[in-house]
Amino acid sequence: MFHIYCPWCQEHRAEEEFHAKGPAHLARPKDPEACSDEEWGDYLFFRDNPRGVHHELWVHAVGCRKFFNITRNTVTYEILETYKIGEQPGKSVQAEVVTLPLRQEAREAANESVKVQAGGAS
Ligand SMILES: [Zn+2]
Repeated sequence: MFHIYCPWCQEHRAEEEFHAKGPAHLARPKDPEACSDEEWGDYLFFRDNPRGVHHELWVHAVGCRKFFNITRNTVTYEILETYKIGEQPGKSVQAEVVTLPLRQEAREAANESVKVQAGGAS
């Protein structure tokens, strides 16, 4: 068991009291009505699974029930910092934060890879 620092309670609590809720700082589309079904579906359901340091949204579910962000390394499980919603990550983080590619760019890259493979096979 390890402990997580809740920035609202201002103390370390057992990890069983917390739940991860996905990536932090996820930008909601400015005009959801203008989104295609695919764009809205990407926003609602599809998440990347980065390797390395990134920001996650967590909730202190069995404690104060408030949401906050964690900067965490997904390789080592090290938590570099926690901070409240509305705050920016601290400058104490030395590790490089993983930048997620836009889903459309990733899809185009995957399609390009498939085309190359298909072209090579024929
Ligand atoms: Zn708390």
